[in-house]
Amino acid sequence: MNKSIAVLTSGGDAPGMNAAIRAVVRTGIKNGWDVYGVRNGYQGLINGQFERMTTRDVGGILQRGGTILGSARCLEFTTVEGRALAIRNLNQRGVEALVVIGGNGSQTGAYELNKMGFPVVGVASTIDNDLVGSEITIGVDTALNIALEAIDRLKTTASSHQRAFILEVMGRKCGYLALTAGLAGGAEAITVPERETDPEQIAETLRMSYEHGKNHALIVAAEGADYNAAKLTEFFKEHRDRLGFSVRSTILGHVQRGGEPGASDRILASRLGCGAVQALVRGEYGVLVGLNQNKVTTTPYEEIVGKTKELDSDLFELARLLD
Ligand code: ATP
Repeated sequence: MNKSIAVLTSGGDAPGMNAAIRAVVRTGIKNGWDVYGVRNGYQGLINGQFERMTTRDVGGILQRGGTILGSARCLEFTTVEGRALAIRNLNQRGVEALVVIGGNGSQTGAYELNKMGFPVVGVASTIDNDLVGSEITIGVDTALNIALEAIDRLKTTASSHQRAFILEVMGRKCGYLALTAGLAGGAEAITVPERETDPEQIAETLRMSYEHGKNHALIVAAEGADYNAAKLTEFFKEHRDRLGFSVRSTILGHVQRGGEPGASDRILASRLGCGAVQALVRGEYGVLVGLNQNKVTTTPYEEIVGKTKELDSDLFELARLLD
């Protein structure tokens, strides 16, 4: 009998997840294994939503955003009973190992499942880039480019009206996206959850930019920063007279997750998806597959779960230097 594995996508969707599914399915099948796709993340694992996948089932999905398997947040899976149900469903189908494509929460769930004796390998996929164990995660590059496109458009309209724009990007706990979008987009100021914001200093930067004749200004704010778009707007309302610019804000929201994955994410996802199957071939599980120093690596869950990647201080300083 062939060995069987299953693959699921969990948590927030990220552009490139489909390329990772494709890589897992095709590498698994080439290895002589049966591969099942699980619908809607951990919820599907509990509900028993398994589908046998063929090489053809994952044809034409490389360029598609989102995830063909669907994703979900699942409270039940955080309980021992929920995970026991998931293991029962996996065992009933003869599935011997699971590949979990997802972010921090999903990998914590995978770790818990693995601790209960079911072999799991994780694939680092989240637009937050907050996972320890992978320098870059699937979806980040595409999300960053979407944010950048929005910045470039906002700058055009801002210049015509002498406006300052606040652009809020995703990042509840992690400011990576705000920092890199701000750096690449030439923002005057960036706010992130990991650093305290001095709104007075931002107001001063805007005032000086205006006085130096700049015809627009840009602030990129992470949604989880102490001063996100709403908080900054509130603050600037009270300091309108001294800013020079009139201020507008845009929240990019879920637009960042949509769209087709770029080349980098397709390649990264293909490498990590294939890396997950190769780990299983080696008999390795209880690990996260990630990219470090341009090599596909595995890191034991014990070393990554419960941690969040720190903000790159050098990048933060660089963004400040160039504002
Ligand atoms: P992203 O942050 O990119 O949106 P994520 O993977 O971090 O993705 P979460 O919503 O944090 O998304 O987690 C996804 C799912 O993982 C949860 O709905 C839950 O089912 C499972 N999960 C999260 N934390 C745990 C935990 N401590 N134990 C078991 N399962 C968990």
